[in-house]
Amino acid sequence: MAAPREQPPWKQPSATPELTSRLPPLKIWNSLTRSKVPFVPLDPEGRKVTWYACGPTVYDDAHLGHARNYVSTDILRRLLRDYFKFDVRFIMNITDVDDKPDTKADVMLAYLDKLHGSSICGEDYSIFTKLTKRFEDRFMADARALNIIDADEVTRVSEFIPEIVSFVEQIVQHNFAYVTGDGSVYFDIAAFETVGNHYARLEPWNRNDTALQADGEGALINKSIEKRSKADFALWKASKPGEPSWPSPWGPGRPGWHIECSAMASARLGKQMDIHSGGIDLAFPHHDNELAQSEAYWHKGCSHDQWVNYFLHMGHLSIQGSKMSKSLKNFTTIREALERGDWTPRSLRIVFLMGSWADGIEITEDLVKAGNAWEEKLNNFFLSVRNSSETMTPSSTDDSLADQLKAAQKAVHESLCDSFNTAGAMIAISGLVTQYNSADKSTLNPQHIKDVAKWVTSIVNILGLNGSAGPDSEEIGWSGIEVPEAAKPYLYPLSTMRDNLRESARSKTGFSIDVIKSVAAKGEEALKQNAHASEEAKPYQRVLSDFCTKLDSFEPSDTISKEVLALCDRLRDVDLFDLGVYLEDRHEQPAVVRTVSRELMAAREEKVARARKKQLEKEAREKEAQEKAQRGRLSHLLMFRTNEYSAWDENGIPTKDAAGEDLNKSKGKKLKKEWERQKREHEAWLARQNGS
Ligand SMILES: [Zn+2]
Repeated sequence: MAAPREQPPWKQPSATPELTSRLPPLKIWNSLTRSKVPFVPLDPEGRKVTWYACGPTVYDDAHLGHARNYVSTDILRRLLRDYFKFDVRFIMNITDVDDKPDTKADVMLAYLDKLHGSSICGEDYSIFTKLTKRFEDRFMADARALNIIDADEVTRVSEFIPEIVSFVEQIVQHNFAYVTGDGSVYFDIAAFETVGNHYARLEPWNRNDTALQADGEGALINKSIEKRSKADFALWKASKPGEPSWPSPWGPGRPGWHIECSAMASARLGKQMDIHSGGIDLAFPHHDNELAQSEAYWHKGCSHDQWVNYFLHMGHLSIQGSKMSKSLKNFTTIREALERGDWTPRSLRIVFLMGSWADGIEITEDLVKAGNAWEEKLNNFFLSVRNSSETMTPSSTDDSLADQLKAAQKAVHESLCDSFNTAGAMIAISGLVTQYNSADKSTLNPQHIKDVAKWVTSIVNILGLNGSAGPDSEEIGWSGIEVPEAAKPYLYPLSTMRDNLRESARSKTGFSIDVIKSVAAKGEEALKQNAHASEEAKPYQRVLSDFCTKLDSFEPSDTISKEVLALCDRLRDVDLFDLGVYLEDRHEQPAVVRTVSRELMAAREEKVARARKKQLEKEAREKEAQEKAQRGRLSHLLMFRTNEYSAWDENGIPTKDAAGEDLNKSKGKKLKKEWERQKREHEAWLARQNGS
């Protein structure tokens, strides 16, 4: 029988005209139709949204591939909640009982280790759940580190066994499942379809893919069992001795992998939900089996409701390039990636936001660069607004920025309504910042600047790029651009002193030693006023005090301007940079005191690498020149006077070899050539000796 290629029909949830007029024109890419369809929640009021997400199997630490799935899910959830203002109820499961335990997983290794040499009763699964709890806690910590909002409720398989057992019983009662001789229960696909149901709604073309089916069933499945059809899958698996097991009407066993989500989602959300989500690799067979089981469970006669209205699948993550894959492999754990500083929670999220959640995303060096550039652009924008608003004159009549804000808001709205097209939204935000950057700031209305900054802040907050800050936060910008509070009493005077020195150095009258001393005195005054530095502030206090000492040590000289400017550069590029602080010089304005961004860090690393390369090249050139000079030292008349030969002509060119034999013609020619070259080099050397 050929597999059907078409997805079965999907019912668009209906809405009254009144509700339609209130709902945002949001369309979502739905895996059940493979198209963008209007989003209408089940709630007649159009406010509440129910969502079940397949969570992690807590047998190992989560890696970057998982991060992609959970961060993208978090972005969509935040958009529904904070941008579209739905009241989202988000439930995620934790698979702490895996029906197809991979023996390479840390939990299984530890379990087998404990099992070894002792006889654990299969029902003593507390050993198991203790181990999985540890990885669950680590997963939750990783998720919070990535600024993923906690689920409203977490459902654990180990806490839902009775519900799962009765779920299976109900399917058996509906005659859509059968019990095998060993005490396992299998789903009966043929029986399910005979009465008009659809199996494999999501990926019907995969329904006969035995490799995917085998992967879904797991390696430890008892192969000797007689299934009615090869594609039938386990709802309940009889446990072998030593495997974790729970009592059931069919004997001791454990739930099949797919049934857990059907049972837990049904227990919490009932016979229908708005959204179900997971990674794309779960679509078949996991989600298709989930759908079949749940429809079989809720089945009444011939009619049933759509168990899931919108099925969302997050695309894969892949990482390209040998340089990238070395340090940023997608199976690098989240904690490694964050600890090593390969990624910050923000930089990783930005990269995901730049792609489409439903498509695979390939992290390339170009994408990472684009992400860093976007982040830096926003850093600079927020800093610029924070540092400029006080100096603006509110008399402007130029409304162009206000118009540009309206256009950007419209573009972002249209993008987000287009199946959460965050990439489009990111472009619109970047475009608005460009418009601000290229405007003549003196003609802008400060209120318009503030409106732009507040709106951009609110969007980045909604996207989860600014910790726990909400969409209505009063603060402009995101965290990390401000220097530590404790450092300010030292950094601000330092920056002002440096501004003054640079200004004087560049002025026509130049520097007097008095200027330097008076600037140093300002620093000393600041040190006196802030004599008691906290531990955190001490390094900044030291930099200020060293700077004052160096200024005090200056003596009048012709090169004093140059020396002071060099000291100012060193303060910016080394002393403060190493403390994570950057003084950004501006034209005819005081420098901005800011934190060192990844972009700045990369720029400095590049600069250091360039300087190092230049230095190495210079050394190589010098070495070569020196060698050449040394070569010229030896006289051509003496160069062949070695015991390799036994006779020479008047020029010192050999005529006989060591054994007294005449040299052949070609050898003689070769030696003559070498002799002539050496003559040239030696004469040049002699000329150099006489010349210098
Ligand atoms: Zn699931």
